[in-house]
Amino acid sequence: MNPTTEFDVSFLEEGFSARDITEQKINESSLTDDRDAFYVCDLGDIVKKHQRWTRALPRVTPFYAVKCNDSRSVVTTLAAVGTGFDCASKTEIQLVQSLGVEPGRIIYANPCKQVSQIKYASAHGVQMMTFDSEVELTKVARYHDNAKLVLRIATDDSKAVCRLSVKFGAPLKSCRGLLEKAKTLGLDVIGVSFHVGSGCTDPLTFSQAIGDARCVFDMGNELGFNMNLLDIGGGFPGSDDVDLKFEEITAVINPALDKYFPVDSKVKVIAEPGRFYVASAYTLVVNIIAKKVILDDDDNASDEEDEGTTDRTIMYYVNDGVYGSFNCILYDHAHCLPSLHKRPKPDEPMYPCSIWGPTCDGLDRIVEQCSLPDLQVGDWLVFENMGAYTVAASSTFNGFQRPDIHYVISRPSWQHVQRISSQDLPTLEESCLQDRPMYCGRESVVEIPTKPRQTHVV
Ligand SMILES: *Cc1c(COP(=O)(O)O)cnc(C)c1O
Repeated sequence: MNPTTEFDVSFLEEGFSARDITEQKINESSLTDDRDAFYVCDLGDIVKKHQRWTRALPRVTPFYAVKCNDSRSVVTTLAAVGTGFDCASKTEIQLVQSLGVEPGRIIYANPCKQVSQIKYASAHGVQMMTFDSEVELTKVARYHDNAKLVLRIATDDSKAVCRLSVKFGAPLKSCRGLLEKAKTLGLDVIGVSFHVGSGCTDPLTFSQAIGDARCVFDMGNELGFNMNLLDIGGGFPGSDDVDLKFEEITAVINPALDKYFPVDSKVKVIAEPGRFYVASAYTLVVNIIAKKVILDDDDNASDEEDEGTTDRTIMYYVNDGVYGSFNCILYDHAHCLPSLHKRPKPDEPMYPCSIWGPTCDGLDRIVEQCSLPDLQVGDWLVFENMGAYTVAASSTFNGFQRPDIHYVISRPSWQHVQRISSQDLPTLEESCLQDRPMYCGRESVVEIPTKPRQTHVV
């Protein structure tokens, strides 16, 4: 999706859910021959996630990681409810600032930045930025007027699905040297950040990293810096179909924060959640465009007890794949499993199946093995939790277009957003002093541009 275009949101009528809209779109589309893949995105789900965040992590101000899903609708919704933003590039900074987000609500959280983009940040008032090397310090000293630097430290991410500390993060033993270098260059270091890795499976990684950050805070303070910002990064799950639930992680984080950074230390705590906010808001619906039935030659197979289910394997081809939305399988180590649009009859035989994308590449496989009934060309498959690292990195390889996205929001969620976005919100500084850490922008009156349309669910 082109992030510069306005987006169109529909109101959900009372009593209807995003699921009903999905159903309605499927029915509409089924009346025609062009059964393109499409998304339904419930912006209300993002609003609810924000409420869940503030309940579970009352001390931590979220700075949404834009790379996870840079759709204008998502970023606008989050700007309206008052989150900050983690931007990694000039374009992401531009997007966020084009929505009226002031520079104090942005952290430029990329430890290795192109010089021209450092200059861009400087010219546009973005001061908070991360670093993890001496060379970066030299660049920032030269090309930024007034940076507030945050030292990114490495974490033990051996238990994460996507490891990030192989690429970023200074080892603890090099931190003193880096802080001394910053001092020599006359730079201002204000805090420490880390990222435990995406798909974190061990909450103790967080408490360990928070403890490590404390050590680096002490070093910084000793050297005369006013260390006052802790950034605990991302890595929070975006749906509840995971082994380690969000609240199980926060139950470990909160006591660690209270131990190492008690409230009276006046340290501001922020985080950079990406998938947490967007994964469950998006449902992708794909259509079966082709099918092959592979009969099992093995005679013994027909002797099996559950007759009919093991004598064949079915290959389904659908109209979105790993070069499109399912790039998350390659890049994000995602495992995507469909649910059926039509509930199968209780006695309907199930078959071992594989599901493939539409391109001509053999790599374009969505599911290696799953169990589905005998479906027909034209039938639909539904993939839930498809908002994170999907649309953001999809291509149109082989000429296959990205699915349309239908945005919906319930009236109560919409009103909630309107209420929050019209309040006079305290700045990050004030919110920490007043122990009201939820919002971090003063003039954050960001409006969702289009008033949702009326939709009539039939
Ligand atoms: C990708 C990234 C995030 C977001 O990670 P999630 O696992 O989606 O929460 C946050 N911070 C940084 C620096 C990142 O690179």
